[in-house]
Amino acid sequence: MVLEAARPLGSETVPSAEALGRVLTASVVSGRSLPPDDNSAMDGYALRAADLAAGPVELPVVYEVPAGARAPRPLASGEAARILTGAPLPSGADAVVRQEDAERIGERVRIPAGPLSGEFVCRSGENVRRTGEDVAAGDTALEDGCRLGPAQLGMLASLGRTTVAVHARPLVALLSGGDELVEPDGDVSGGRIVSSNSYTLAAACREVGAEARYLGIARDEPADIEHRLRTGLRCDALVTSAGVSVGDHDHVRGVLQKLGCRLLCFGVRMKPGYPFVFGRFEEGAGPLLFGLPGNPVSALVTFEQFVRPALLAMAGHTTLHRPRISVTVAETLTKKAGRLHFVRVRLERCGREVRARSTGNQSSGVLRSMTEAQGLLIFPAEATRLAAGEQAEVQLLDESFLAWHGPGF
Ligand code: AMP
Ligand code: MG
Repeated sequence: MVLEAARPLGSETVPSAEALGRVLTASVVSGRSLPPDDNSAMDGYALRAADLAAGPVELPVVYEVPAGARAPRPLASGEAARILTGAPLPSGADAVVRQEDAERIGERVRIPAGPLSGEFVCRSGENVRRTGEDVAAGDTALEDGCRLGPAQLGMLASLGRTTVAVHARPLVALLSGGDELVEPDGDVSGGRIVSSNSYTLAAACREVGAEARYLGIARDEPADIEHRLRTGLRCDALVTSAGVSVGDHDHVRGVLQKLGCRLLCFGVRMKPGYPFVFGRFEEGAGPLLFGLPGNPVSALVTFEQFVRPALLAMAGHTTLHRPRISVTVAETLTKKAGRLHFVRVRLERCGREVRARSTGNQSSGVLRSMTEAQGLLIFPAEATRLAAGEQAEVQLLDESFLAWHGPGF
């Protein structure tokens, strides 16, 4: 239901230098050829390969072509030109002999042998990079939907594209709610706690390239909640935490309905994160509404399952989910049937298998179960026991687990 609603956002034009991680909204067709000319792949001597056919030769070096310049005139048969890497090949020449394979004698160059020697062979095209061998004018250099990484940004630069059309970045309004909450520098006496969700959720948005706009902490009063929510209605997604369950002071749902939000789902058979709400404003207009539970772990786990894929889809990505790996359960896990559990686990590589071990206290208020987790183990809804040694699936939160720890090659 969420992915059905999470459509890719429209296009915007941004400086290519700032487009890292963005997704193209249109293919990039090259208006030029790369390289623009036949040019030398080596420092050496440009000549005609046919001049070497009969064996060793000594040719006059008639001019030099440095990179970034053109030959002053075509090269004639029986002539050589000093040429540097990247310099355009003189017309008339069709090959480059590396300087290591030649012997310079004053104004002349001696090429030790021709193809008959069996040792040194110089064919037409040797050490020449052909016009358009990278990209020809009219080629599609980058496909629509392509994610821009370092190589793609280099390609845009080579094509002279200083700006590029990409999907807009999702703008996410974040609202925390609860009379007990203060900002991190606030007074925590009298049963108050810091609104850590403001930080975890903003960071989780930024991690997928979305922009977070913080609406602050709403008091447990409908008027304050409404006032703050209204300032988030122009965003692409509205993410609230807390206040959506059935407590006496949970007003968020009522306010959302008053503002015209249609709640499409309330409650997901998962743990943590049961009291998750998803809603939409009028068809196509208004932000997607994600009402996350207040408990810090529940907020992050529901963000992972529902908000993160939606934000990636809005930004134009087509791979939306965390990598999943098969693991061996290290210690027996048990639960009641009925809800899917996302068990926070530490991972350990043992030979060819990966073992997953619970991070300990799995209460939805224990944020350390997340800080120490590399993954979320999927304990299926109807299962009641996962015995040590059994296989299970893990959503990999910390992709650096896959990093190679030895030398790179
Ligand atoms: P609620 O949904 O309002 O019943 O909140 C559930 C639990 O989550 C309570 O223990 C709250 O104190 C806690 N909580 C709610 N919002 C936040 C937040 N922004 N940061 C940290 N904890 C929160
Ligand atoms: Mg509350």
